[in-house]
Amino acid sequence: MSLDPELIEILACPDCKGEVEYREAESVIVCKKCGLRYPVRDGIPVMLVEEAERPREESVERREQE
Ligand SMILES: [Zn+2]
Repeated sequence: MSLDPELIEILACPDCKGEVEYREAESVIVCKKCGLRYPVRDGIPVMLVEEAERPREESVERREQE
């Protein structure tokens, strides 16, 4: 699912106020600064720190197992 690029531009990480980018393949919004990953549900970015996933080594391991 694609998102409006203008929407991505106005979004900012609620945690560090950093710039974010949309990763279409993973359907996540990733903060370029702190690396928090925000889910996109039904085409709507969920910009909530409590919903975000922190980048961890174990998530990389999980991806390798898939
Ligand atoms: Zn951030």
